[in-house]
Amino acid sequence: MRSATELLATWESGLAAGAVHRAVLLHALVRGGTTGELLDVPVGRRDRDLFALRRALFGERLTGRVTCPHCETEQEFDFDVTAVLRGGEDGGSGEVAVDVRGWSVRLRLPTSADLLAVASAGPEGAKRALLARCVVSARRRGVDVPGDRLPPEVLAGVARSAADADPASDVCLTMPCVECGRPTRAVVDIPSFLWAELDAWARRTLLDVHLLASSYGWSEPDVLALSPTRRRHYLELVGHG
Ligand SMILES: [Zn+2]
Repeated sequence: MRSATELLATWESGLAAGAVHRAVLLHALVRGGTTGELLDVPVGRRDRDLFALRRALFGERLTGRVTCPHCETEQEFDFDVTAVLRGGEDGGSGEVAVDVRGWSVRLRLPTSADLLAVASAGPEGAKRALLARCVVSARRRGVDVPGDRLPPEVLAGVARSAADADPASDVCLTMPCVECGRPTRAVVDIPSFLWAELDAWARRTLLDVHLLASSYGWSEPDVLALSPTRRRHYLELVGHG
C-alpha cells in the first residue's frame, strides 16, 4: 500500500501540474515506471487503474455533483467504482478496426501523450484532433486517406467504436433530474475526482502534522508513521479530536 509520505510527494509534485500530468502522477502510484512510459498507456487502461487506486485509498462509493442541462438544478449523484472494475481488462492490443459507411479505419486507443498534444485546441477541436491523431490508417474504395480528412460522420462512428473498446476512458451515467425529471448525464472524470480527494486529504494530513508537531515536538516523519487510530487519539489529547 502507498505510504502517507508517497502520497504527499505525489500531491506536492502535482500542485503546479496540469490535468494530464496529475493523472500520470496518480497512475505512477499504481504502476510505477517513468512519466514517459506512463504517458504512452491508453487513457482507459490508466483510468481503470485510477478507479482501483480510488477504491484502495478512499473506498468504493464516490459522490459527485452535476448540473441539469435543462433546468440548471445542481444535484448530487452516487457512483460505485467497482462497476468500472468489474468490466474486465480490454483495449488489449491498443488498436481498433472499424468499418463505417464504406470506410475501413484502424485506430490506436488515445493515450495521455495524445491528450497533452491536443490540449490547446479547446474541447471540440481537441476531440477531432485527438481522433485524427490516433487514426493509423483509413481507406475508402481501396484508397488511403489521411486521418484528418475523415468526414465528421465517419469520425463520430470511429469515436463510438474507440469508446466501446476502451470503456473506462469515458465513464458516465445518466439519471433523471431531481427537479424536472429530464435525463442528466454525469461524467465520472476519475483523475480529477481523485486529485481533488488527494488534495483534501493532503491538507488535512499537513494540519495533523502541524498540530502534533507543535504539541509534542515530533517531526513530520514521526507523525506520518503513526497509525490512523493513534494519530486520532493523540489529536484528541491535544484538543483537536
Ligand atoms: Zn432539470
